[in-house]
Amino acid sequence: MTEEERLEKNNRIREKVKETRLRRQSQICRVFRVKIDFSHLNEFEKTQLKMIFVEAKWLYNDILTFSSSNDINEYDYKIKTVQGLDKDKQPVIREIKNLSSQMKQSVIQGVKHNIKSLSAMKKHGRKIGTLKYKSNYESINLQQYGVTYKFCDKKHMKFQGMKRPIKIEGTEQFFDLPGLEFANAKLLNLPDGYYVAVTTFENKGGETKKYKPEIGIDMGIKTSITTSEGKKYKIFVGETKRLKKIQRRIMKRKKGSSNRYKLRKLLRREYQKLDNRKKDKANKIVNELLGHEKVYMQDENLSGWHKGLFGKTVQHSILGAIKAKLMKNERVVVLPKSVETTKTCPKCGKINKEITLSDRIFECSCGYKEDRDIHAARNMILLSKLNKNTCGTQEIFYTNAFGEDVRRKHKQKCCNADLVELGSCYYNGGSSPH
Ligand SMILES: [Zn+2]
Repeated sequence: MTEEERLEKNNRIREKVKETRLRRQSQICRVFRVKIDFSHLNEFEKTQLKMIFVEAKWLYNDILTFSSSNDINEYDYKIKTVQGLDKDKQPVIREIKNLSSQMKQSVIQGVKHNIKSLSAMKKHGRKIGTLKYKSNYESINLQQYGVTYKFCDKKHMKFQGMKRPIKIEGTEQFFDLPGLEFANAKLLNLPDGYYVAVTTFENKGGETKKYKPEIGIDMGIKTSITTSEGKKYKIFVGETKRLKKIQRRIMKRKKGSSNRYKLRKLLRREYQKLDNRKKDKANKIVNELLGHEKVYMQDENLSGWHKGLFGKTVQHSILGAIKAKLMKNERVVVLPKSVETTKTCPKCGKINKEITLSDRIFECSCGYKEDRDIHAARNMILLSKLNKNTCGTQEIFYTNAFGEDVRRKHKQKCCNADLVELGSCYYNGGSSPH
């Protein structure tokens, strides 16, 4: 390649990057995960896949050793063999033959990135340690779609350095979406198998989505989530019998034995599966709730539940995950803890202080009666509207759900509330007269 050709190539790349950056501004980014069907691989491919991660680990550790006494920029990314230590701490030469050159580069980039972020932390006055040698490598970057990896069809994927396309599962999540663009991906080595996390871009939709009417949700311990429409979600994902069995068996094995090591591996897989089930359930519920135009909820104190008598139940619940996901969305309104959603009667406006956690039915002296959780969920919508701009004690008037006029003294400790509605903040520093 002549000097002129080289410069021209650089120019072309620069233009392309500029073009992509411009396009990305009008796109949304999503990451999908597909699973590699390990059972359909032949023996050679199975070892190849395993060795990719082992070699990445060797390479990573070798770069660390190199960078401790040299400039990391001088590391030869075309390296074919690395030095390491065997079981008895004797130096050995190891051959890198399954990692493609792009993969090698991404491992080197990874170390560089880690060093950079460490030095950035140091600049900010944080105490830092050094990079540690890895005992296993979990994720490898696949930089360019079409070069390092690509989809052959809905069921198969091809990776650089592997001869045959590989069978995968899970493409139905995204494969038929029109105008989807694939960017980089990550090859993952997780306890329950090998995955590919693919980053995709698609154009922001012009068509407006049709939402269902607004909804209030009440989070409780017993039924966990109740909507103002009366739907109850059971959100408890328990440990399996198998998991408990493995835990018991591990206790009986000698520390440091290979049997114990094998069981630990099994246990990690079981925990991964449990985690997957939790994530799946949380995603499904959040997706269903966000189908509504607006979602009203209250900032419940989940960490308080953890410490109290509900500990074990909350631990296996996915309430925290659901709450975190919901709060990221701009169509979700969060009411402060101080709003009395359970105690307020929507019919007469009276606050029934005597309601306790064990009362499953809300009953007011005015004759209004409703399931406690549904009642609270409905109040989320109602009270979010009338609490606007109130501070201290005020007398408020409103028309209730039954078309009757309600008047009551309303006490609201707004200045201490830690959460604020998006847009018109009415509790902290908003337009309200504090
Ligand atoms: Zn009442």
